[in-house]
Amino acid sequence: MRKRWISLLVTGLLVGGAVAPATPALAAPTFRVPFPCGQTWSGQTRSDHSPAYAVDFNRTDDSGDPVVASAPGTVDRVTDLGGTSYGKYVRINHGGGYSTYYAHLSGFNVSVGQTVGYGKVIGWVGSTGGSTGPHLHYEQRLNGADIQVRFNGTLALYWGTKSYTSGNGCSSGSGNGTVDTSGTPLTVRSGPGTGYASVGTVADGTRVTIACQTSGTTVTGTYGTSSIWDRIGSGRFIADAYVYTGSDGYIPGVPRC
Ligand SMILES: [Zn+2]
Repeated sequence: MRKRWISLLVTGLLVGGAVAPATPALAAPTFRVPFPCGQTWSGQTRSDHSPAYAVDFNRTDDSGDPVVASAPGTVDRVTDLGGTSYGKYVRINHGGGYSTYYAHLSGFNVSVGQTVGYGKVIGWVGSTGGSTGPHLHYEQRLNGADIQVRFNGTLALYWGTKSYTSGNGCSSGSGNGTVDTSGTPLTVRSGPGTGYASVGTVADGTRVTIACQTSGTTVTGTYGTSSIWDRIGSGRFIADAYVYTGSDGYIPGVPRC
């Protein structure tokens, strides 16, 4: 959970006497290759493409392969233009004026208004609209204008064809947290809930490694009310409501148990 972070930041500003910039520039989201973790795709750019900075992705037998969100955001278009233009396409709004387009899909796996994270399957590669063969047409836009595509901050190849390997939605394997109970030792359970046997305690302030997270009994603790439980060892679970992890809800990149 994260709520404590806000108050620490405010305190830090007061003590340090720091002044926030009047209009901080909104950083671009960290966009990732729009395919599942570990896949390698050939991405082609060409100056006669419309729009110019779009990337067309292919790999062998790619028809029907899943397409994933290249950054967290909210789906704001799930549209079928029929046999013209993008055909079936999805647009994701990433905030700060940034959006991404995924076109010529064979089908949709999201709906308008849905919140998506890295690696979320949004649809499947197809050849709908004005397409002559299966591929994914992908765009990044800022305030509606086509911009040069970047993955992890690195500019795509303009102009030409290059292999891109996805690091999108890859699990980091584990996360970290700090137990915060305001003094009392926190009970460790054999499973994700208060109904499981107590198998020990961890002291307030203990740094823990979280192997995975899962849903269990709802608990109200230092960081609010949550049904998330953190697995900190074999047969050892603690309530996430008492753990500072830097995230509200599930920690990005940490797997579900
Ligand atoms: Zn294209």
